[in-house]
Amino acid sequence: MKRWVYLFSEGSKEQRDLLGGKGANLAEMTKLGLPVPTGFTVTTEACLHYLNNGNVLTDDMKDQVMASVMQLEEKTGKSFGDFKNPLLVSVRSGSKFSMPGMMDTVLNLGLNDETVESLVRNSENERFAYDCYRRLLQMFGDVVMGIDNSKFESRITQLKQSEGLNFDNELTANHWKRIVSEYKQLYRENLDRDFPQDPVEQLYLAIEAVFGSWNNNRAKTYRRLHDISDDLGTAVNIQEMVFGNFGETSGTGVVFSRNPSNGEPGLFGEYLINAQGEDVVAGVRTPKSIQVLAEDMPEQFEQLDTICKNLEKHYKDMQDVEFTIERGKLFILQTRSGKRTSKAQLAIILDLFKEGIIDEETLVQRIEAKDLEAALHPSFDVKALKNRVHFLSGLAASPGAAVGAAYFTAEAATEAKDRGERVILVREETSPEDIEGIAVAEAVVTSRGGMTSHAAVVARGMGICSVVGCEALTVVDGENRGTVGEETIEEGTILSVDGTAGKIYFGEIPMEEVANTVALDDLHEIWDRHATIKVRANAETPNDIETAMALGAVGIGLARTEHMFFEKTRLLQFRRLILADTLQERQEVLKELKEVQKQDFKFMYQAGAGKSENVRLLDPPLHEFLPKTTEECREVAKALGKTLNEVKRKSDNLSETNPMLGFRGLRLGVAYPEIYQMQGEAIIEAAYEVMAEQGFEIKPEIMIPFTIDATEFATVRHSIEEAVQKVMAEKQLPLDYQIGTMIEIPRACFVADEIAKHADFFSFGTNDLTQMVLGLSRDDSPRIVTQYLDAGIFQDDPFQVIDEAGVGAMIKIAIENGRKTNPNLKIGICGEAAAHPKSIEFLSTLPIDYISCSPFRIPQAKMKLAQVRVEETIK
Ligand code: ADP
Ligand code: MG
Ligand code: MG
Repeated sequence: MKRWVYLFSEGSKEQRDLLGGKGANLAEMTKLGLPVPTGFTVTTEACLHYLNNGNVLTDDMKDQVMASVMQLEEKTGKSFGDFKNPLLVSVRSGSKFSMPGMMDTVLNLGLNDETVESLVRNSENERFAYDCYRRLLQMFGDVVMGIDNSKFESRITQLKQSEGLNFDNELTANHWKRIVSEYKQLYRENLDRDFPQDPVEQLYLAIEAVFGSWNNNRAKTYRRLHDISDDLGTAVNIQEMVFGNFGETSGTGVVFSRNPSNGEPGLFGEYLINAQGEDVVAGVRTPKSIQVLAEDMPEQFEQLDTICKNLEKHYKDMQDVEFTIERGKLFILQTRSGKRTSKAQLAIILDLFKEGIIDEETLVQRIEAKDLEAALHPSFDVKALKNRVHFLSGLAASPGAAVGAAYFTAEAATEAKDRGERVILVREETSPEDIEGIAVAEAVVTSRGGMTSHAAVVARGMGICSVVGCEALTVVDGENRGTVGEETIEEGTILSVDGTAGKIYFGEIPMEEVANTVALDDLHEIWDRHATIKVRANAETPNDIETAMALGAVGIGLARTEHMFFEKTRLLQFRRLILADTLQERQEVLKELKEVQKQDFKFMYQAGAGKSENVRLLDPPLHEFLPKTTEECREVAKALGKTLNEVKRKSDNLSETNPMLGFRGLRLGVAYPEIYQMQGEAIIEAAYEVMAEQGFEIKPEIMIPFTIDATEFATVRHSIEEAVQKVMAEKQLPLDYQIGTMIEIPRACFVADEIAKHADFFSFGTNDLTQMVLGLSRDDSPRIVTQYLDAGIFQDDPFQVIDEAGVGAMIKIAIENGRKTNPNLKIGICGEAAAHPKSIEFLSTLPIDYISCSPFRIPQAKMKLAQVRVEETIK
């Protein structure tokens, strides 16, 4: 015969499938010897059988339920429906995953007109007995029989009004008696039948109602939204009642074993004296803090505290515990892993580890990306956010939250900042000239561009919150305002920007503080022990480099030298270089630029304190640095002592229709070897000087971008080395440098064996590689990608998650080819997509040395790398 019923003493926490979460944990606690009122669980299998076979409780099930009731009677010395010493039970639903929508609990089942009188006699407390009875009538009527709960509530309200009373606990025994008879009347009015007096009938009806609630609309919707299978079913727990409403030495409450909002150790929760069940959450009276229980009932508090600590140790997690005290005796009614904020989660996991409750592997596995994010970036107050509706949305380009006044140009932003305002920079898209405006902004919002647009990359690098590609937003250059449908953003309009969700709101939303208590250092140490692939940073300013190191980078994987030219005075110098007509003129400018670059590199090396730093030589198309409008051209001409025509001619000459594939990277190196030579010299000289000043060793890594061909690379490498060797010959000191290349063009992957003969390292630039392997331009991709995601053609944006089948295959080919001719070839991935958790799962299968990403993504990347390894070792 099939088992449909298990006593609490027969089950365990591993049986969530069969007994539901609540039942499995009640069984576990019973096994642990905790004071749990006795009871039994009707299984989820019984529920499914019931639902699939015409909604009838089989005789088998009824027999087994009654046999278990008899066992309860034996253990408790009470009996069901007995006039002398009646057994009362609660009927509680509980599926594998806790979910709203399932049937609410019915308490005090077993009471009827006769047993309530024996309860009066035995308790010598008439008020208590009738309070219990009216609760049963109300819960049973609402939950099992479907009478609207407000009908019951309004009777109590009316009574209190007519008696001039405020609170339920002011009602007397006689009041409750009156309510009981009114409730019975409600049954007759609404159902044409009486409240079932037979406890066995009550019990069967309640069990059937729980089973049926599995398929109510609320439950179905919840399962669909949370991807929970419809085939799990719910269990029913039937448990002896204990009474928190017995008087002043009784009570009921809910506690967390640690603070669920900040993770601090110690009990956190609430309780009510002389109350039953849901009174605490229902807000009937204001509950007291659990700390007060330490004074009210010190002994019980101590016992509860110890039990919670032991449950934590046993379940290896923070617990959410329901308890009831009946005439001074403590009972535990439920335990489960407590819900908590992300901020609390990190603190709790670290504490559990330090207290020896969980091991290192568990710690590594249990932290989720969202928890780290919350620790690293500010966020809006969850409660405040609930009541707000965003008016604009876009791509969540850089996480965090910020409030400030909208400004539409870098200048206006900088000025406002100088006046002491907090600033949100709003632009169509950003360019190198906006860098100062970005630096002073709390957040950057653009109407165009994708996850790899200038605004997105720069903001992420600086840890500034950003939403890009807000298509509904129109920003016209020079107008100093933006429009979104009917709405207008004026200069100075206060906006709240949520870079984590990609949403923008009018007005100020209060922020939640960043948890600066998080011991990231501890975590880094642990992650480093487990991960084999290292994490470097994409960073070049001393500030970013320091941030990156503080966030756990082992080095710099990509320092973009062109970023150093974005600053205003430098930009002019750099423009002079581009506009130079003769080699001689160029060399003059280069001399000056070299000093500037050297200074930059020195700062970089100082900030990196001897850690590996990979410096990429000039990469972007030159036209990006040139003025576009006549107005701008005129200004530049004036500043450089050129004619407007000269500037315009050069600018037109260099303009390209498909800039990201044109005159850039190594094409520049071939056309102007002296620029790369200058950069090479500046790097080496900077290294020498910093080594002499600081005493640590530096091994410069010089990276050439956009290589197509082995001969091309070898030629330019040779010319850079000539320049570098000259410096070294002067210094007469050994210096260990490397010259390598980015691999970001499909052809380079196929000829990687040839290139690797001349290169010391490869670093894959996944943005360009993706653009070329997929034939999707970086700048135009957002629209297309969105469409493809919607149509289900793409699972993920290939610019955010490495496209394993295409780009990934290409990377594999290049690694294999490269290592064939150069087994010591160092290999890194410096495209931002590498840091995405899904990319990391794939990259972990490759023989690479490091990935590199923007500073604020480092912790998450390191965590994921460690998690992948831990999972492998556990397997
Ligand atoms: P939920 O899943 O909504 O929390 P529960 O089944 O846990 O529902 O019960 C609701 C309330 O009733 C809780 O406060 C619980 O502690 C209380 N309760 C449940 N069973 C009993 C019982 N046997 N004796 C006393 N109180 C109980
Ligand atoms: Mg509960
Ligand atoms: Mg590139």
